Amino acid sequence: MRGIIWFRRDLRLHDQSALTAACAECDEIIPLFVFDEPLLQSHEFGSACVNFMLGCLENLRSSLNELGIPLQWRRGDQVEEVVHAAREWKADRVYWNRDCEPRAIDRDRRIQQRLEDLGIAAQTYKDQVVFEAGEVTSVSGEPFQRYSAYRTRWWSHWYATKPITVPVPQPMKSAHLSEQLSSFSLPTADELGYASMTPWVEPGERHARIQLQRFLDGPIHRYADGRNLPAIDGSSMLSPHFRFGTLSPREAVLAALGSLSKRGHVSRPDVLTWIDELIWREFFQHVLASFPHVAEGPFRHVAVPPPRELGPERDALFQAWCSGQTGYPIVDAGMRQLNQTGWMHNRVRMIVASFLIKDLRIDWQSGERYFLRHLLDADLAANNGNWQWCASTGTDAMRGYRIFNPTLQSKKFDPDGTYIRLYVPELSGLPANKIHEPHLLSSDEQARYGCHIGTGYPAPIVDHRRARQEYLDLGKQVDR
Ligand SMILES: Cc1cc2nc3c(=O)[nH]c(=O)nc-3n(C[C@H](O)[C@H](O)[C@H](O)COP(=O)(O)OP(=O)(O)OC[C@H]3O[C@@H](n4cnc5c(N)ncnc54)[C@H](O)[C@@H]3O)c2cc1C
Repeated sequence: MRGIIWFRRDLRLHDQSALTAACAECDEIIPLFVFDEPLLQSHEFGSACVNFMLGCLENLRSSLNELGIPLQWRRGDQVEEVVHAAREWKADRVYWNRDCEPRAIDRDRRIQQRLEDLGIAAQTYKDQVVFEAGEVTSVSGEPFQRYSAYRTRWWSHWYATKPITVPVPQPMKSAHLSEQLSSFSLPTADELGYASMTPWVEPGERHARIQLQRFLDGPIHRYADGRNLPAIDGSSMLSPHFRFGTLSPREAVLAALGSLSKRGHVSRPDVLTWIDELIWREFFQHVLASFPHVAEGPFRHVAVPPPRELGPERDALFQAWCSGQTGYPIVDAGMRQLNQTGWMHNRVRMIVASFLIKDLRIDWQSGERYFLRHLLDADLAANNGNWQWCASTGTDAMRGYRIFNPTLQSKKFDPDGTYIRLYVPELSGLPANKIHEPHLLSSDEQARYGCHIGTGYPAPIVDHRRARQEYLDLGKQVDR
């Protein structure tokens, strides 16, 4: 039997459901990756994401070579390319792992239908999550709309089903056709229409596994506090790996739980807090799959203040936010980190999102699109779920009138300004007690620290106290 394994967001060999099944069932395997031409041309995702993906593919290619099944790639419309490859290579079956995004579900349905019309079987598997939407539901079978209830059920399902990983396939002995097919080098980012850059997080399955181990050996045991401090190595930085499937979430949960049985300073609450974040990730995938309208608009229509009207003032404020020129150091550090590296710390993501929506009163979807285009870990479900949380329109929304004070957040989570100094060099000479509010510097201090407000570093583009009050007043009006 000849099978095609179509790689998508699962660029690894370990605990890879479709790959393991294909290798067990077929005598000949042809691994395929299709660069989605319309998606690439839309530039919905940016260079950071594309360069990371290319690095992962390069790593996958060398691992597949060792298995004796060289990776083939194509570029074009995914439906046409997969169907064409299956016909050309006379495949009996095409294997892939399922995706929760509405667009991907629609695409997969169309491919499955076309393959079935040709008498080719499509075999699909769960892989991106430990539990898919539909597996973790309320007693009456309804999808959960609150994280806490979902989480409780997730854990009971975990203990009831005891998930295990699937083995890495053995080298294939007779992949004749696959070897005959010429395997060209992968396209470069430039060839795909994106700027080349070195990914901020090392791409590829090998690095994902090293990074997981490094995290489990140290930072996880201080995670509950450490994850909030952007200046330290307090979180796993594995999100791009989960995004491209270079690490299996099932394996990550098992490894984290396994670390509890090792000797040493293992902190159960820290480990469970980290697994909670993986469950948040699954929860947002469950929300997207169960309520696909969230991809286009709010999960629920709630009375929140309307965004500022379109026009030059709104555009200038949005531009200042995008380029990290708001005059709020923690916001500017976050946005500049994003623009330079494709990464932003989670606490800072929440601060900049709240600032955009509540201080600047700009629609959350503009922020969502900007993040998608710049993040290394850009992921529709996680990005949308978090933006909706910050905008108070989501499932577990931030309380409507809770508004982050960017200065207090900055003082609390980056007390000595280490993170700010990394990305806002204009402020690098300021002492810790001045760095969070540089606009309060006297002219003598500005001269002493070499930081001139208005010319060297912007004055705040809005006054937080006034913006907060305006937001609250507008909120009272829409609440009536
Ligand atoms: C406005 C906003 C937009 C975001 N956009 C994305 C996005 O596009 N892609 C993305 O992967 N994450 C997104 N997040 C969630 C979170 O910021 C990142 O997952 C996290 O910063 C990644 O760092 P880490 O791998 O070190 O996470 P860790 O703290 O080590 O957490 C482990 C894993 O859990 C998952 N996770 C952690 N926090 C969240 C969360 N709040 N929601 C969903 N999953 C989570 C990630 O897969 C992460 O790798 C967003 C958060 C906000 C506030």
